[in-house]
Amino acid sequence: MKGWLTLSDKSQQGKLRLLVSREHKSEDTIIKVKKTVIGGSSHTLIAGPCSVESKEQLETVGTALKNKGLRVLRGGAFKPRTSPYSFQGLGEEGLKMMKGVADDLGLVTISEIMSADQIDTAAKYIDIFQIGARNMHNFDLLKAVGQTNKPVLLKRGLSATLEEFMLAAEYILHHGNDQVMLIERGIRTFETATRNTLDISAVPILKQETHLPVLVDVSHSTGRKDILLPCAKAALAAGADGVMVEIHPDPQHALSDGKQQLNMAEFQAFWDEIYDSGLYH
Ligand code: PEP
Ligand code: MN
Repeated sequence: MKGWLTLSDKSQQGKLRLLVSREHKSEDTIIKVKKTVIGGSSHTLIAGPCSVESKEQLETVGTALKNKGLRVLRGGAFKPRTSPYSFQGLGEEGLKMMKGVADDLGLVTISEIMSADQIDTAAKYIDIFQIGARNMHNFDLLKAVGQTNKPVLLKRGLSATLEEFMLAAEYILHHGNDQVMLIERGIRTFETATRNTLDISAVPILKQETHLPVLVDVSHSTGRKDILLPCAKAALAAGADGVMVEIHPDPQHALSDGKQQLNMAEFQAFWDEIYDSGLYH
C-alpha cells in the first residue's frame, strides 16, 4: 500500500517521486515557529475562536492557552462563509489584534488567507497561513504560499480524496515551501448526525504516505461539542501530531460557529482530560 500515491497517475508512473512522500524523505518534517515545534515526537493542541471578534476575546482565549502551557492560537479574520450575509471577519484589523495579543503572551498565530493578494498583509501579523477546506483546490493560492517562507496549515477539501489532498500539499512544496502541515477536518458524506464525517483513517494513511505533520480539526469535522473529546483522543491514538479545537469566551454570542465552540470552562475540562489520557505528550 505504501507508495500508492506515486503510482496513481499513470502518466507519471515510475518517473515521479512526490516531494511530500516518505519515499522522497523518510524522516518526519518538523515545523519550527518561534519556540514552538509542530510534528516529530511532541503533540500540539491548537485552539482559538472560529473568528477573531475583539481584543478582549483573544486575550481571554490566549491567556487560557498560556496558562496551560499551550502556545498556538488560531483565529479567522478572512472568513470563508457559506452565505454572503454572514459575518465575513474583521480582515486586517483582526490580524492586528491577533499579533498584539500573541506578542504580549508569547503565542504563535494561525489564520486563514483566502486569496494570494492577502498574503503580504497577513504575513505582517501572523506566523502560520491556514488554507481552508474551500481553498484546498485553489491552485494559484497553493502556488503563492509555496513561494513564501511561512509555514502553511493545509486543510483537507470538503470532498477531497487523500490523493488530492496530498497533491495539493505537493503544489506548495513544489513551489519552494516545505513547511506544510496537513489537517483532516471532516468530509462530506450522507451522514447528518455530524457536520462532516471525521475520516480517522486519513491520519495513519497520511502519516504513512507523507513526512508532513498531520493534525485533526475536531470542531469542523464534528460540529458538535459533545463528541470533541473522544474524537480528539481517537485522533491522537491514530497517530496525529496534534488537534485543533475552536474555543470562545461566550460561544452563544459568537459571530460564527457558535454551536461547536467550547467555552473556557469546557475547554479546561477538555484539555485536562486529553492531558490525563496519556495520549498527549
Ligand atoms: C476554519 O478553520 O476557520 C474553517 C473555516 O475551517 P474549514 O476550512 O475546515 O471549513
Ligand atoms: Mn469555524
